[in-house]
Amino acid sequence: MRACVHGCVRRGEHWAACPDYGREDGKCRGCVPAEARDGVMVCQRCWAGLRRCLGDVPELLAVLADMRRPLAAARCDKVMVAGGGAVAPAPLRADVIDATRDLCKTLEAWAWWAVDGVVREPRGELPLVSPGVARWSAECHAAAILGELGRICNSRDAAGLCEAVLGPAAPGFWTVAKALARWPLEDRAAWAVEPCPWCDKKTVRVRPPRFAGDVTACRCEDPQCGWAADDSLRPEVVGAFVA
Ligand SMILES: [Zn+2]
Ligand SMILES: [Zn+2]
Ligand SMILES: [Zn+2]
Repeated sequence: MRACVHGCVRRGEHWAACPDYGREDGKCRGCVPAEARDGVMVCQRCWAGLRRCLGDVPELLAVLADMRRPLAAARCDKVMVAGGGAVAPAPLRADVIDATRDLCKTLEAWAWWAVDGVVREPRGELPLVSPGVARWSAECHAAAILGELGRICNSRDAAGLCEAVLGPAAPGFWTVAKALARWPLEDRAAWAVEPCPWCDKKTVRVRPPRFAGDVTACRCEDPQCGWAADDSLRPEVVGAFVA
């Protein structure tokens, strides 16, 4: 068995030597490594998470670009000045600027990988672009990465991509997953008609592709289950949503 290079474990499953073997309430959340998906060095959960996060990031960057526009910032972040009662725009929120820079760096670095097989130090420049341009630029980068995802994930660099996209985030760094948790996108997912392949409950949500080059992303909403995939449900099932 090849273990996931991101160090994932099978939740709730323990080796016999683990003090929490056979217990439900122990400190260890699982110590048996998760198996890598066929043909790549990351597990199914990482694979699905990478595809979903890379599919979401262009829209997220458009949202952040909108928040960085001075007018929007003045509109949204008005603060009362103590004593005077005057209204002044707050400075642009540092977390929006930091997250934009980190997400752009991640996209740029891994798009380089997709093009010529090495991670380069990205510039991470922050031109003050419109939301439309931010989205378009991010879509180009994300589509390049998604197009080569199998090759990236079958290299020793796969762990680096998982770290940058999924986390856990180093202090002060915005992974894509952390930014999506902070600024959730409009939920366009629908409930799938078919039950989850793992837990057999009708708890699978299906998110349609967000741009050309993005994929349909499915995941089970049951927190005990954690099934996530984007291509193991049959296409006719993915296409059949409950209203
Ligand atoms: Zn354990
Ligand atoms: Zn994994
Ligand atoms: Zn499930």
